[in-house]
Amino acid sequence: MSDFVQEVMEKVKAKNPAQPEFHQAVEEVIQSLELVMERHPEYRKEKIIDRMVEPERVVIFRVPWLDDHHEIQVNRGFRIEMNSAIGPYKGGLRFHSSVNFGILKFLAFEQVFKNSLTTLPMGGGKGGSDFDPKGKSKNEVMRFCQSFMSELYRHIGPNTDVPAGDIGVGGREIGFLFGQYKKLSNEFTGVLTGKGLNWGGSLIRPEATGYGAVYFAAEMLSTRKESLKGKTCLVSGSGNVAQYTVEKILDLGGKAVTLSDSSGYIYDEKGIDRDKLEYAMELKNVKRERISEYVKKYKEAVYIPVDPSLDYNPLWDHKAECAFPSATQNEINEKDAQNLLNNGVYVVSEGANMPTVQEGVKLFIDKGILYGPGKAANAGGVAVSGLEMSQNSMRLPWTREEVDNRLQMIMKDIHQTCWDVAEKYGTKGNYINGANIGGFLKVADAMIDQGLV
Ligand code: NDP
Repeated sequence: MSDFVQEVMEKVKAKNPAQPEFHQAVEEVIQSLELVMERHPEYRKEKIIDRMVEPERVVIFRVPWLDDHHEIQVNRGFRIEMNSAIGPYKGGLRFHSSVNFGILKFLAFEQVFKNSLTTLPMGGGKGGSDFDPKGKSKNEVMRFCQSFMSELYRHIGPNTDVPAGDIGVGGREIGFLFGQYKKLSNEFTGVLTGKGLNWGGSLIRPEATGYGAVYFAAEMLSTRKESLKGKTCLVSGSGNVAQYTVEKILDLGGKAVTLSDSSGYIYDEKGIDRDKLEYAMELKNVKRERISEYVKKYKEAVYIPVDPSLDYNPLWDHKAECAFPSATQNEINEKDAQNLLNNGVYVVSEGANMPTVQEGVKLFIDKGILYGPGKAANAGGVAVSGLEMSQNSMRLPWTREEVDNRLQMIMKDIHQTCWDVAEKYGTKGNYINGANIGGFLKVADAMIDQGLV
């Protein structure tokens, strides 16, 4: 670790103890930014990094609600408003039992760079709660969302902070949150994205993150004059991002062979075709069942439950060319990364945020594979959220083709930015440097222009 990185990390760790995911996200970015600081001492003088690692504002609040047995439940709500130098705070809400301040800060920090890369005017934020919608009735989810919004509504707004979905927050939750916001504020505005189509949502928003991650992989492959056609792909997760990743892999002629949830994964060597995907989507989105049900219908597939005694995830230990981690942070450890390389994987496009541990990232970079970090590869979701905001402001919906074309163009632009910046800073093909530096420059310059605020 260089003196510069060490100096920054010592301060960040001292000020933010017990937030390992936040430390990890900052360290990854700072390692890339070292290249910038050598050429641009003005950023050091302006203390841009010290300013960027400190959220502009944090809201933490109590979320009390009544469960179906009339028992009082109390969860904790958060909104981290990280950086608004280039636009209103923008970023998802995560409802999951693991949610804590440090995890949301890592996500909010990442979001600042990601949103900058999209070319759209969006600052960065993130929020959520340690509430887990899994196993809760629809009424319980609704009561929780209403209580959550009863506090959050006073901190957000279409020109201030525009949340969206993330883990555990899909169309159903956004609906309940939006309804409560509208009631309390007496305003119908685009204060959330990921809305239903008949009340202000954008076509392609549900698909955007998964589609975008596959478009990004296709762009990376095109630098080697290759495509996804005929390629075998490992996909983790079975939620929003994973589902539409599989759909776009099919569109582009690839074959996805895995899907997972926190209980285990399915391996379908023949490939998850459109009928099977439709069934998996019904399982997860309508019946809200576990992915293990898949193998009851498709006997050729196998289900492998999570084995806590293993120090690796066998999902990443199958022959393939591409991997699309689409579940959660740090789901690829060092051994998993090595297994991927041993099995012939040379394209990793991260649908999830920070799914690969730092040692794993280093293996990918050293090996020179096509590695698209989350803040670039999964930026399609927030990009279409930005397009949803534009449509809401104009009160004009665009067609599916129009939004999809814009998404493809944005993913192409993000890829090009990462490619060009990495080359300019002497690390050709290193998308992580490209994404971190490319995202940083625009925000840093805007912060300098706007003075010490
Ligand atoms: P969903 O809630 O729709 O799906 C999450 C999936 O990941 C589920 O299959 C879930 O399984 C699994 N999962 C979650 N936590 C864990 C865990 N700790 N261990 C194993 N599996 C887990 O979320 P999304 O698809 O929206 O999000 C997935 C990832 O993509 C996240 O990292 C998110 O931050 C990122 N992302 C999402 C965007 C979006 O637009 N939705 C945009 C950009 C990034 P189970 O049901 O068992 O919990």
